[in-house]
Amino acid sequence: MEAHLAAKPSDVAVLVNITTEKWPPRHRTYFGSLEVRSPQPGEPYAITPVRGCTGVMDLGDKRTVEYCITAREIAEDIAREINNDSGEGSFHGVFVAAGETPTEAELADARRRLEEFQCRLVAAADLEWERTKNPMFITDLERRAARQLGQEKPWLYDPKPLAECPVCAEKIKHGVAVCRSCGAILDREKAAQYGLVGAGRKERQRNPDPQAEAGK
Ligand SMILES: [Zn+2]
Repeated sequence: MEAHLAAKPSDVAVLVNITTEKWPPRHRTYFGSLEVRSPQPGEPYAITPVRGCTGVMDLGDKRTVEYCITAREIAEDIAREINNDSGEGSFHGVFVAAGETPTEAELADARRRLEEFQCRLVAAADLEWERTKNPMFITDLERRAARQLGQEKPWLYDPKPLAECPVCAEKIKHGVAVCRSCGAILDREKAAQYGLVGAGRKERQRNPDPQAEAGK
């Protein structure tokens, strides 16, 4: 019969976030859900206080044992989870302060690590662009990193935006002959060239299942 320690009410750790990125709430069985705050515009960082908890371990046979999890353990666990979100060595600007507020040195260290990670993302995107020249292979994370570092990159711009079908207003690619959604002929000459119009051919051939359309 081991005595267990109850978490001290004063056991609080401070989770610091230096990016404006929003993270989905973190879930743990011992505290439910916790949202890590992001700084408001103009704020250099945001603080999320984390409290120590008592966990319950099920030993079977209706026996349970309670155990104490310190605020620092919980905070470190959450910071690790968020920072590791994008693979090995990734860093998303979340750390646990030693005191009640982050020191200048702690903030500077976090900014340096974040910048290092962002530089690595940009370098990876540069390499990908060199190989493929395809903006589809550049991730949102890489674009955001370049923007935050203030770097101009040819791969920063999103692919050509879609046009709108004048008949059904669905998004379509530029220069298509026939709207894939409603079947309207948008470029008669081009459509005829590929045998999509005339000669008694059905013009609405791209819409074989009316249910699919109705379900939209
Ligand atoms: Zn259409």
